[in-house]
Amino acid sequence: MTSAISAQVLKSRTFQEPWDADMVLVNGDILTVDSTDSVQEAVAVKDGIIGEVGTNDEISERIGRSTEVVDLKGKAATPGIIDSHLHLMIYGEQDLLYVNLRPPVTSIRDIQQVVKEAASKTPKGEWIEGYGYIMNLEEGKLPEKYELDPVSPDNPVFLTSMDGHYGSCNQYALDEAGIDANFPDPPTGGVIVRDKNRNPTGLFYNHIAMNLVRRLIPKHTTEEYKKCLFYAYEDHIAAGITSYHAALVAGEERYNAYKEIDLQSEMRASIYYMSETLKDVDHAVNTIKPFSGKMVRFAGWKLQTDGTFLTAYTYNPHNGVTHTMANWTSKNLKEGILQLHKTGYQVKIHVVGDKAIDMTLDAIEYAVKSAPRKDPRHRLEHLIIPTDDALKRIAQNNIVVSYQPAMIYFGGEEAINLYGEERAQRFVRLRTLLDMGVTVCINTDSPTSKTYKPQLTLYSAVTRKTLRGMDFFPKEKISIQEALRCYTINGAYASFEDDIKGSIEKGKLADFVIWSHNMYKIRPERLLRMEAEMTIIGGVIKYRKDGTRITVHKGTQ
Ligand SMILES: [Zn+2]
Repeated sequence: MTSAISAQVLKSRTFQEPWDADMVLVNGDILTVDSTDSVQEAVAVKDGIIGEVGTNDEISERIGRSTEVVDLKGKAATPGIIDSHLHLMIYGEQDLLYVNLRPPVTSIRDIQQVVKEAASKTPKGEWIEGYGYIMNLEEGKLPEKYELDPVSPDNPVFLTSMDGHYGSCNQYALDEAGIDANFPDPPTGGVIVRDKNRNPTGLFYNHIAMNLVRRLIPKHTTEEYKKCLFYAYEDHIAAGITSYHAALVAGEERYNAYKEIDLQSEMRASIYYMSETLKDVDHAVNTIKPFSGKMVRFAGWKLQTDGTFLTAYTYNPHNGVTHTMANWTSKNLKEGILQLHKTGYQVKIHVVGDKAIDMTLDAIEYAVKSAPRKDPRHRLEHLIIPTDDALKRIAQNNIVVSYQPAMIYFGGEEAINLYGEERAQRFVRLRTLLDMGVTVCINTDSPTSKTYKPQLTLYSAVTRKTLRGMDFFPKEKISIQEALRCYTINGAYASFEDDIKGSIEKGKLADFVIWSHNMYKIRPERLLRMEAEMTIIGGVIKYRKDGTRITVHKGTQ
């Protein structure tokens, strides 16, 4: 449970006076995200750790002959952004291992084109995996075998939607999996979509059903997954993201890839291992060795109580697909969470519908009562339509809430259509939860969302504007100071690392982003045009934008 780099070690670092910094940042607006959100001028770093924060004059004292002086020229620096829920590896998998179906693919016609091309290059009988089709394809439906068979007669095909909760396959894949009219439906949580004769159409809702086919796809190697991570890391570093909560690490090959990159990169990752069933919980608890390395560490487990917007487990029906279902029975969920809670690690649970949320809170309360633990800091991910009562229980149990504010931007109107006004108002209740004292972290859930960059998430949290310009329940807006806190120190808290990262304070890791604009001072609309110009991890420049005014030179004293 302790972090790879322990807080004690950092705090006990007192440098012998007088000490020279390895790096200083001067002439800037340092948005520290300390307890008062103070803004300073400069910061000094030694051995990868923040040694001092203060005025230009104070920090100048720390410049020696070999100090790297980063002159911010008035630009603003913040703590490194912590994306507290994303799927970093899948970001790489989409481009390196799968056929990429993200926009500009926007129709089934486009999908057919891409799959046809992939089939022409794939030996007969080999699997074609695709990822990333949007839910609102132009034809108003999701791809099924009828559209896939004509373009891939000789290869099994499996395609996953961008949100990760829907899968489409062709007849070849159905045959391989032995799924036909007589094949039994999963007991809970997943749907095999069928025609009126019970024949599967090639469409699946939720992982439990999708896995019936997906399990047949030959596994990729740890080496391949490592390549995907490095690939994803490059883009994310350039966006100012310095810490990652890898929300769904499924399978031992992926787990091992994270472990192995620990010694080969500066990627600070907290990994959450995915368990879909009680059997998986047993397997994970008995076989996954919690790992804590230099940069990467095992942080806990993730479960999914229900599906996504359309398949949310709710008290009242909603428009559209009406499979309102949980992935777990309440009994199994209670047992599973208790078993994981007893390991001493954190449990991270995906919840969408109000009924799923209540069922999960029942399970957490049961676990906490059965096996009391100090500060388990369990997390609820997404929390789409909680009741007011659920929010109270979250506060009482010190549960961390993990939100994706950009959902408002992309899905605000859709939420109202789907759930109605009353329930849509329960979306991303940042103001209410912060006022209740709940720790909320914000993140992108990339690549299940359209962007991995932090700007839109900050913008959505402070404006609650949708893409089409609607003000989406603006009473839940928060300030930019609060939004930045949610994206840094609260993210650190969510992985038990608030003592070593998340703010620019003495004794913490020297992870910074330097931005083209000072987010505290610009109009919210400008946030979307703000850019990361430099990313520093552990006092080392890892990314520098071309053409930035920021200069770097050696000290002269
Ligand atoms: Zn996710």
